[in-house]
Amino acid sequence: MPSDCLFCKLYAEGDHVRKADGFAAIKDINPRADTHLLVIPERHVETFRDVGEFPADEVQRMLAFVAETAREAGLDDYRVMVNVGPGGGQTVFHLHWHVLGGRMTGMPG
Ligand code: AMP
Ligand code: ZN
Repeated sequence: MPSDCLFCKLYAEGDHVRKADGFAAIKDINPRADTHLLVIPERHVETFRDVGEFPADEVQRMLAFVAETAREAGLDDYRVMVNVGPGGGQTVFHLHWHVLGGRMTGMPG
């Protein structure tokens, strides 16, 4: 784990909404929706481009964790988003999934 990675640190010692099985969900510090959660895998890869480094079963469990996080947050309809690279809006270089529900501000589309 890179010692200077914010999300490796938050995975290990953050204030989690839920954590299980190599994945954690936290509240985004700068929410852009009524509900704005981030799902962080324990495994450090810098971007979604590198998702192929995950074993297939871990990808399946990661997506299931995203869906379960939304369900536990009481969301039925919502948006799941990954920003890829600086040009795609990525600012923290540890793969993470945004889960956005309710009214959204400043989101595309
Ligand atoms: P991205 O821009 O897709 O890389 O998303 C990074 C997200 O992390 C942004 O939405 C930030 O608001 C959020 N963020 C940055 N620092 C923290 C923190 N300490 N705790 C929770 N969320 C954070
Ligand atoms: Zn990391």
